[in-house]
Amino acid sequence: MVAWLLAVALPLKVAFIAVGQGDAALITSPAGKTVLIDGGPHEAGVALEAYLRTHASAPLDLVLLTHRHADHLGGLERVIAAFGTRLYLDPPFPHESPAYTALLGLLAARHVPVHEARLGRTIDLGGDARLELLGPAEPTITGTRSDVNANSVIARLDYKRASVLFAGDAEARTESWLLRRGARLRARVLKVAHHGSGYSSTVRFLAAVMPEIAVMSVGAGNDYHHPHPRTVARLQALGAKVYRTDEDGDVQIESDGEKLTVTTSREANPK
Ligand SMILES: [Zn+2]
Repeated sequence: MVAWLLAVALPLKVAFIAVGQGDAALITSPAGKTVLIDGGPHEAGVALEAYLRTHASAPLDLVLLTHRHADHLGGLERVIAAFGTRLYLDPPFPHESPAYTALLGLLAARHVPVHEARLGRTIDLGGDARLELLGPAEPTITGTRSDVNANSVIARLDYKRASVLFAGDAEARTESWLLRRGARLRARVLKVAHHGSGYSSTVRFLAAVMPEIAVMSVGAGNDYHHPHPRTVARLQALGAKVYRTDEDGDVQIESDGEKLTVTTSREANPK
């Protein structure tokens, strides 16, 4: 009886945390390993820390920064100071800022191993769950509207028949690079690129992913008018259920490896 109880796996959990205009997602693997992908903007640090106090234990196993923009790294200093992490990964594409320098200083002071998030790296999360880096692009993509965005980490999470694609702030050029190289893009959940902006989520890319569930991390009334209505329409035309953190709050997905269950912290718009 005891052996049977121990054999029951915990679900995989992926939470897209409402951090305003920015990104933050927490993965909790069936083996209990935790990965924080991005940490939202600086202003969201308090709320992010509060979320993690309820949903994770210290230290985190991995903090993965998709790219060095403030709306992705701003809350990380506070979170890493509070929780610590066993490993920190970020992409090699440079983008200096006082916040990034402070983050690196904290990681050094805490003796956290800092590695490059490179294409092809896989991270075993235990219990059949694994995270694979499908990007940043190699060679580096240059000459785009935002090369920092274009060279975002693209990560896919697989657990049996559940899959989540984290598209960072990829640009259209990143998407065509992924398509050209035949990356394994088909995924049941998509963290929509770049807050649902009109600079990514091309028709060809979305058709290759074919998500059942699409999540956009956006701030209410943001200055960028994210998400772009065309992006929302494209996802809905493919049959995806669209969630957005400005309306739904935290979007939490659980899976036993087959079924996906979504709960939101706000009942904004019944789907
Ligand atoms: Zn962003």
